[in-house]
Amino acid sequence: MTFHDTGLAEPLLRAVAADGYSIPTPIQAASIPHVLAGRDLLGCAQTGTGKTAAFALPTLHRLAAGTSVPAGRGRRIRTLVLSPTRELAGQIHESFRGYGRHTPLRRTVIFGGVSQRPQVRDLEHGVDIVVATPGRLVDLMQQGCVDLSHVEIFILDEADRMFDMGFLPDVKRIVAKLPRQRQTLFFSATMPGPIEALANEMLVDPVRVRIAPERQTTELIDQSVCFVAKANKPRLLIDLMSSQAISRAIVFTRTKHGADRVVRQLS
Ligand code: AMP
Repeated sequence: MTFHDTGLAEPLLRAVAADGYSIPTPIQAASIPHVLAGRDLLGCAQTGTGKTAAFALPTLHRLAAGTSVPAGRGRRIRTLVLSPTRELAGQIHESFRGYGRHTPLRRTVIFGGVSQRPQVRDLEHGVDIVVATPGRLVDLMQQGCVDLSHVEIFILDEADRMFDMGFLPDVKRIVAKLPRQRQTLFFSATMPGPIEALANEMLVDPVRVRIAPERQTTELIDQSVCFVAKANKPRLLIDLMSSQAISRAIVFTRTKHGADRVVRQLS
């Protein structure tokens, strides 16, 4: 299966091709046609499986194909994505920006820990897609800055982590403000009881997609382990870094001082 077989519109295929993707990952192949057809989805998949594109691409397609997009302030929020952390929300927002770069759709990202002013300004100017963490979104809802009554597609990402982080009450408060008539895409790496219950409450006859549920790692990443005496670690690291196979890398250390030391040695 290629991306052309998924039924995605040309502006999205163009973005995906330019990003160097030729073949949909299993979760993309299993999800995209159903989401395009308007079905609810229950996706059991972890980060690294390509799940962001699995929901972002068909969502962008449906939004761009839907009723003609009103300009500027006339825009209504038609898609809401909830994510448990700022980092993830930022990444998802970036994906929507990248995949949607040949569409006229506008989006913004909303999270706590920073000034709400630019976020409120974006909302006032009109956006089609909002990616948010639950806490700040509830804040803005209470201030009357967010109208969710036109949401057509609601995406809940990493539901199990939301639950672990104590966001379930906020999520429920947000869901209560969404139209009942909508498409819902629900993702969770694991399905403990409360998450299953939440999914049952929120989804209508969902398509279930489960990708390698027991696996802690992903096929997309090769992993290896080197056992080495502490004194030899810098030399080994330099050796690995000099190899042609590595063009960019992240090195994790146990302490801040350790990180400084590694940088000095590599420099
Ligand atoms: P995610 O699981 O959404 O965090 O995506 C994991 C990574 O896979 C991201 O860096 C994507 O850019 C990349 N990716 C997503 N879909 C594809 C695809 N069909 N082919 C190659 N890479 C992809």
